Amino acid sequence: TAKQKQSGTMVYHPGLDAHSQESLSLLSELRRAVEHNELRLYLQPKVDLHTGRILGAESLVRWQHPQRGLVPPMLFIPFAEQTGFIRTLTTWIIEQSARAWREMYAHGLDLRLSINLSTRDLLDQDLPAKLEQLIKTHDMNAQVLCLEITESAIMDDPQRAQQTLERLHELGFKLSIDDFGTGYSSLAYLKRLPVHELKIDKSFVMAMERDLDDAKIVRSTVDLAHNLGLRVVAEGIETAKAWKLLDALHCDEGQGYFIAKPMPEQEFVAWVQAWQA
Ligand code: C2E
Ligand code: CA
Ligand code: CA
Ligand code: CA
Repeated sequence: TAKQKQSGTMVYHPGLDAHSQESLSLLSELRRAVEHNELRLYLQPKVDLHTGRILGAESLVRWQHPQRGLVPPMLFIPFAEQTGFIRTLTTWIIEQSARAWREMYAHGLDLRLSINLSTRDLLDQDLPAKLEQLIKTHDMNAQVLCLEITESAIMDDPQRAQQTLERLHELGFKLSIDDFGTGYSSLAYLKRLPVHELKIDKSFVMAMERDLDDAKIVRSTVDLAHNLGLRVVAEGIETAKAWKLLDALHCDEGQGYFIAKPMPEQEFVAWVQAWQA
């Protein structure tokens, strides 16, 4: 396929057989990536849409491949989920996020970091204990970490997901429903989960300026979140107009290319200082 030609054996594609040669070599490349520090932590700021203040950032992983350059997560995260390697990746990302949080804190920034969890992570019985240990090691408060979970990851095994989420909530972590509106969630079910925030999927946000239906979906999601006592975040803000519209709809927070693209963590502190100056 075109994708294979472009990137050799390394990319995930839907037809990839988990036991094929291609798949085995991708898995060994990923193992090497972790051992040889080829993964990079990128951060994308989240702002208060009313005041413009920076509230935190989302941690997003990239793979700095020695031959292929910067590989986006969609080319290896789905594969990592399929093979179970995602647990290693998630451990890496939470450790790096905690370390980055410490460094930002040392620079006088008290921000919240959001971390993406996958289906497999929600089924991992050890995850709450791992996260608990992590915040002890880095002497941080659990509530500075927000864990983003998609509706479909929850619906894979709702009972087990609920147990994990309850445990994470008891430990003090904030929980967010990511890509809200794209999954097959049951609102009755979501109501019972100890979540703190809904994140409106970028497909609605990016379309709302030209499509009235998308604008209505955004408006009703904001109202739904607020009626349930949740904070609401819009991702995919690409224009000043989108920001204005979302603020007018009382959406609390936003994230998107108009504010900043995800950037290497080393650039983040200077970026925040310049933004706030
Ligand atoms: P996501 O969790 O929905 O993350 C938001 C994605 O939207 C990011 O893509 C971000 O760069 C992109 N985005 C943000 N603002 C805009 C905008 O204004 N316009 C457009 N067009 N895009 C915007 P990215 O970094 O390529 O990540 C893609 C997906 O890969 C993420 O979607 C998430 O599902 C997954 N992912 C990334 N890092 C991790 C990770 O560390 N762990 C896990 N489990 N998944 C991750
Ligand atoms: Ca996310
Ligand atoms: Ca999202
Ligand atoms: Ca998404």
